[in-house]
Amino acid sequence: MPKFVYDFTEGNKDLKDLLGGKGANLAEMTNLGLPVPPGFTITAEACRHYLAHGTLPGGLADEVNAHLAALESAMGKKLGQSDDPLLVSVRSGAKFSMPGMMETVLNVGLNDESVHGLAAQAGDERFAWDSYRRLIQMFGKTVLDVDGDLFEDAIEDVKRARGTDSDGDLTADDFKELVGRFKAIVKEQAGRSFPTDPREQMDLAVEAVFNSWNAPRAILYRRQERIPVDLGTAVNICSMVFGNMGLDSGTGVAFTRDPASGQQGVYGDYLQNAQGEDVVAGIRNTVPLKELERIDKASYDRLLEIMETLENHYRDMCDIEFTIERGKLWMLQTRVGKRTAAAAFRIACQLFDQGLIDMDETARRVTGDQLAQLMFPRFASKVDGVTKLTKGMNASPGAAVGKAVFTSPRAVELAGRGEDVILVRRETNPDDLAGMVAAKGVLTSRGGKTSHAAVVARGMGKTCVCGAEELDVDVKDGHFTAPGGVTVREGDVISIDGSSGDVYLGEVPVEDSPVVRYFEGERTEGDGDDLVNAVHRVMEHADARARLDVRANCDTPEDAARARRFGAAGIGLCRTEHMFLGDRRQLVEQLILAADDEGRKAALDALEPLQKQDFEGIFEAMDGLPVTIRLIDPPLHEFLPDITDLSVKVALAGDDADAKDRRLLEAVTRLHEQNPMLGLRGVRLGLVIPGLFGMQVRAIAEAAAARRRAGGDPRPEIMIPLVGAVQELEAVRDEARGILAEVAEASGVDVPALIGTMIELPRAALTAGQIAEAAEFFSFGTNDLTQTTWGFSRDDVEAAFFSQYLELGIFGVSPFETLDREGVGRLIRIAVEEGRRARPGLHLGICGEHGGDPDSVHFCHEAGLDYVSCSPFRIPVARLEAGRAAI
Ligand code: PEP
Ligand code: MG
Repeated sequence: MPKFVYDFTEGNKDLKDLLGGKGANLAEMTNLGLPVPPGFTITAEACRHYLAHGTLPGGLADEVNAHLAALESAMGKKLGQSDDPLLVSVRSGAKFSMPGMMETVLNVGLNDESVHGLAAQAGDERFAWDSYRRLIQMFGKTVLDVDGDLFEDAIEDVKRARGTDSDGDLTADDFKELVGRFKAIVKEQAGRSFPTDPREQMDLAVEAVFNSWNAPRAILYRRQERIPVDLGTAVNICSMVFGNMGLDSGTGVAFTRDPASGQQGVYGDYLQNAQGEDVVAGIRNTVPLKELERIDKASYDRLLEIMETLENHYRDMCDIEFTIERGKLWMLQTRVGKRTAAAAFRIACQLFDQGLIDMDETARRVTGDQLAQLMFPRFASKVDGVTKLTKGMNASPGAAVGKAVFTSPRAVELAGRGEDVILVRRETNPDDLAGMVAAKGVLTSRGGKTSHAAVVARGMGKTCVCGAEELDVDVKDGHFTAPGGVTVREGDVISIDGSSGDVYLGEVPVEDSPVVRYFEGERTEGDGDDLVNAVHRVMEHADARARLDVRANCDTPEDAARARRFGAAGIGLCRTEHMFLGDRRQLVEQLILAADDEGRKAALDALEPLQKQDFEGIFEAMDGLPVTIRLIDPPLHEFLPDITDLSVKVALAGDDADAKDRRLLEAVTRLHEQNPMLGLRGVRLGLVIPGLFGMQVRAIAEAAAARRRAGGDPRPEIMIPLVGAVQELEAVRDEARGILAEVAEASGVDVPALIGTMIELPRAALTAGQIAEAAEFFSFGTNDLTQTTWGFSRDDVEAAFFSQYLELGIFGVSPFETLDREGVGRLIRIAVEEGRRARPGLHLGICGEHGGDPDSVHFCHEAGLDYVSCSPFRIPVARLEAGRAAI
């Protein structure tokens, strides 16, 4: 039979699974000799049994009896004893803190007799009756499910009758009256009397705490915080101490360092003559903890001493709840405190400097998500006085303010005049790129976190809120409407928060991140900012530890240069279709629609020098580092005119329709695909349109040769997208090798280029052994691999139903954001194993969006990849996580 009850002297901080966070830490403090009111903990295992069977486990009652008896003898009084009652609190405490989600009942043990005993002992009748009414109120609400407002209404009633609006003016008689009223409320609402037997009160309160695990708000909170549903909660039974026994009593919270900034000092709040829930309820204003020094110096000094003990013992910042009862300090709770991202970095380094933790532990104490938060510009102040219009998906963090514009050319035009603009679209497509570059931020009403807008914005480090479905965007008329009928027209200023997804009307002030300026090389670790300094130290350590390289996904020389400044070890994905936008789109359109070889050749000849120029710039920026260039992979619909627009144009023109438009419509109709993401793209397009891939390979080879002649050290790697069968790869590889040899011969410069493939289809992963025979490297394209493994259209499903899937708990996070280890991850592991078996030393990387996601970086480390590749802005995050994964 397991042990279901632990005295505070029996547990310790490592028993959180069993005793919950609160119980484990109360035990730890007790064992440290700190002043914790005596008590015991009923385990979460007892709760799990109760929730599974609907009954308390056999033997629990005996254990509780024994522990209660021991507590009574230690305190020298019995629970609810009429002349001098022992009173206890009954509090929940799960493994993970769930603030305010579960239940507490204080003052258990009071009844019509013991209230007199308490009054006599305390010498304070008012205090005793106030305590008694609090018990009935909390017990009624928590245990008997009575609507809490009924009690509050009764209090208001009595206050009104006394002509006051402060609880402080109520007398002992008033509280006596309230006790009577409260009992009547309980009787009427719960259909039973308030139990006067102290032990019955305690047992019912314990069961109520167990039941509160399954209260709707607790279920919702766990779902949001991804806390497992079956942990259950422990229950702590603790002898009561009172902060409301006069001016020499009080209650407070304290932090061993500032949880907002991480600075050392005295942080916390204190409330004289009050109980803990008065602080929470905000009934009276607290004073800064520093004031306690003036009010009660002895308790203050002791508290500071205890805070130091706790911090040294936990080797971390702690938060604390305490009560002072008639000049005697009691510790009611402690735990390792939550903190902001900036505080996390500062505190971790401070603790290292104090010799409390080593550098590995310092790196463990911070996360890539925290670093990401430090990198984005942010709204400088609280958003008071601005109207929140709606909330969309937080697609790319940051804070952006500007005039709403509805088309890409308008964005470019206004930005060219020095105006800040936010590009608002229903959704974006490659044509909007110029506008996205020009805008401070992007807002769309459709599309999920891997929609075009989201992916491109993240790549650029640009703030983006996508899928704000409540907005009705009318691009043609240049306005959108928000819920409540607010209309925003072109030129109206809006603010978007890419970290929360919030959209505001009006201007919210924004400030730059010093951490980004540091990564950009504009600030150094020595310039006096301790946050920058802390980030620098942690990054140095992470880099030293990391086994994974971090490369960048980028396709311009400017982005490549920035990626390099941010610490990229090369480019892992250069998406060449991004080089065919703007004017060049015409040439691609011409190529795809060409009726004969001549037309095709003309288009290719025009594109080649432009491509060569692009590659030269990128090789130069990444001199000496590998550059993986992915041959063109355009879903056709992104490069052809919209079929509906074109049909309307031709239909409206009737007999007068332009011959070119007719031919175009005919071709677009022929090429129209129901699901273009699974259609003629990637290697399929390369095989179907002769010369297209060849032109790109030639441009790569010539650019590399030119760089070499100029004294550079270009390191191209040619990557074939969307391969499903080794035969596809072989055909492209053979052609590419021929062209590389031709260029080497003609230029007299031999630039070796690896030829490899993306693994983006389940078939490619499952036949990786065959594919590796023809590939010198693999790069996992996990955007498509997720799409094709789940059968989820990456452009549609997030906005369509992912929120319901998240609510249903089918997954805790979108598989497009964090790699699905069980499904997609298994395919990757198969491909790693079979690929390396066929070709020992096969170089392996990932270039889907997951390459910059912390959890996915850890997976890549575990799966034995050589590098992750992500957008330039995510590089520091990936570097940090690559280091943490190796610790
Ligand atoms: C991928 O599919 O993961 C990938 C990197 O390619 P793209 O996103 O361009 O399809
Ligand atoms: Mg892909």
